[in-house]
Amino acid sequence: MHNPEVVISKQLPIYQHKTKLRQAVRDNDFLIITGETGSGKTTQLPQYLHRAGFCKKGKIGITQPRRVAAITVAQRVAQEVKCTLGREVGYQVRFDDCTSQDTVVKYMTDGCLLREILADPGLSQYSVIILDEVHERSLNTDILLGLLKKIFSNPDEAKKGRSFPLKVVVMSATLETEKLSSFFGNCPVFTIPGRTFPVSCTFGSAIGHKDTESSGYVKEVVKVAFDIHTSEMAGDILVFLTGQSEIERACDLLFEKAESIDYRYDVHDQTVEGLLILPLYGSMPTDQQRQIFQPPPPGIRKCVVATNIAATSLTINGIKYIVDSGFVKQLNHNSRVGLDILEVVPISKSEAQQRAGRAGRTSAGKCFRIYNKEFWEKCMPEYTIPEIQRTSLTAVILTLKCLGVHDVIRFPYLDCPEERFILEALKQLYQFDAIDRRGRVTQLGELMVEFPLHPGLTRALLKAASLGCQDLLLPVAAMLSVENIFIRPGHPDKQKEAEKKHSALAAKSGGMNDFATLLSVFQLCKSSDKPSAWCKDHWIHWRALKSAFSVETQLRDILLRLQQRDFPVEVFDGNKSELFRRCLCTGYFTNVARRSVGKVFCTMDGHGSMVHVHPSSSLFDQEAELDWIIFHDVLVTSRVYIRTVCPVRYEWVKDLLPKLHEVDVYELSNVARE
Ligand code: ADP
Ligand code: MG
Repeated sequence: MHNPEVVISKQLPIYQHKTKLRQAVRDNDFLIITGETGSGKTTQLPQYLHRAGFCKKGKIGITQPRRVAAITVAQRVAQEVKCTLGREVGYQVRFDDCTSQDTVVKYMTDGCLLREILADPGLSQYSVIILDEVHERSLNTDILLGLLKKIFSNPDEAKKGRSFPLKVVVMSATLETEKLSSFFGNCPVFTIPGRTFPVSCTFGSAIGHKDTESSGYVKEVVKVAFDIHTSEMAGDILVFLTGQSEIERACDLLFEKAESIDYRYDVHDQTVEGLLILPLYGSMPTDQQRQIFQPPPPGIRKCVVATNIAATSLTINGIKYIVDSGFVKQLNHNSRVGLDILEVVPISKSEAQQRAGRAGRTSAGKCFRIYNKEFWEKCMPEYTIPEIQRTSLTAVILTLKCLGVHDVIRFPYLDCPEERFILEALKQLYQFDAIDRRGRVTQLGELMVEFPLHPGLTRALLKAASLGCQDLLLPVAAMLSVENIFIRPGHPDKQKEAEKKHSALAAKSGGMNDFATLLSVFQLCKSSDKPSAWCKDHWIHWRALKSAFSVETQLRDILLRLQQRDFPVEVFDGNKSELFRRCLCTGYFTNVARRSVGKVFCTMDGHGSMVHVHPSSSLFDQEAELDWIIFHDVLVTSRVYIRTVCPVRYEWVKDLLPKLHEVDVYELSNVARE
């Protein structure tokens, strides 16, 4: 009998190099493998190594920067080797562990491996660690590169807690192999030659170099995708957009347009008889994601509308046309504002080439860029800046410190972050009492590192726990760790209905505090007889809430474990609402703002940035009644918006605010260098 999966995997470019690859891993402790996206690195190499007996002493761990990639790839491999997911092949991502005693091939996010190193610095359970998608240069992968180099290139260190050597394989789509090789002591580079076909690229006219505001790109990609559908020959379309809400909007618009087609007259290629529109983004249900990979029925053209995840992490076969919006959503640390900001920015030229390349895997393809040549020249940087050079380092610096890396400035970074970013992270850790004046991790810091949350949120949670009111903060932390609780329908009438329900929920929780609304939604749904129906009725994403329930349980377990240790205890007498908000202040005093004029607030962290309450907040349009507030995060569109907001009193933050200024960062960093 023919097994179609086996036939397919034998056709992948990597297949011919199977024997040599195994040998190369046997011969080298560090090895770099590069090859075009889709050559079979992620799905095949772990299987080759498994079959060659590399799992006899330990597991094979493969890291992915994106959680969806870790999950989908594990599903695929489990299917190829015909095992139940979670048995021999499994995955682990933050708050979702699908592995068992039997798991020998484990896909995971880079963040998960970092946590494992914290618990077991010698990675004693593993025989092979594969760092995958290294070209993405995610913050955690970069830190892992440095740690693996530090631990396993030192023979004495490497022997600690291990009875057999660890193999480290670094995989990357293209890119900087020389730099990587010299980073790992000139280790060998194995290149998998790929076949690629030419892709012709055309520039559009909709987005020019002055359009960095990026508002019109959804409509434009829809128009271009639709034109391809009606005028180009058969072949699937891949549209690159920025995030979930834009993708859902684009899919709705495309669907409306596609409904109006008369296939007898409007479509150039008469073999094309329909359009199948599929969204693809990080937080979507995995059963829906599976459809993405399936070939469409005969006569149907598939159109996938995706985030950057489809650029290298996941390979979709059959794509002939690319529509490139030219934008990506990125978390950037803005040192002028002093905050991490989620913003839509132009992609780099190398990213644009990577996107275009997705059309040329199996035959010649076409890429339609919706921006013009001037935008390309003036707005798009040559390369994407590695995350380590543009996001807040607070959490990873704490992890490094807890791993005994005191000199965080001279850690072996592949690309060094700017020193002021490191200093800022140290300062924040000091403000959260996670490190002391000499830069050493405090008892609180040791507790904080155990939570896979933003350090501020962890700080608030620990404060609540020490006061015995963790039940207020655990649900909030869980709700802030999952995406999109509130459904925001595109249709104006439905939107009004949803907004009404949402403000009723906010009012029910006492009003004027978005954190309390989150808590209340969590509790109301949890205590409801039919939680899914309750969600539907209140325009809440049931799937997101279900994950919030699971996250809350996991956070509670971590807390219970820590409370067995030496755990701080404090007392407070005051009412519950004040207690709740005071706990929040402990974690969010770095995000304090005060109203200046009208609806404008000014941040109090020394940057004095002007911010506005986001329309999704229950405090929106109530600004006149507010004075001091704290907020969870920042979004930049036409303005700097703050989301998830809560009013506080000056007395509560008064004693905390001086902490923002008292610390001498140079003292902290000098100690770091000692
Ligand atoms: P690389 O890591 O080199 O980019 P992959 O191992 O991810 O390559 O992909 C190899 C092949 O497996 C591709 O043709 C891809 O389309 C296919 N593939 C990967 N995941 C799935 C999946 N979940 N369903 C169907 N095909 C898949
Ligand atoms: Mg891959």
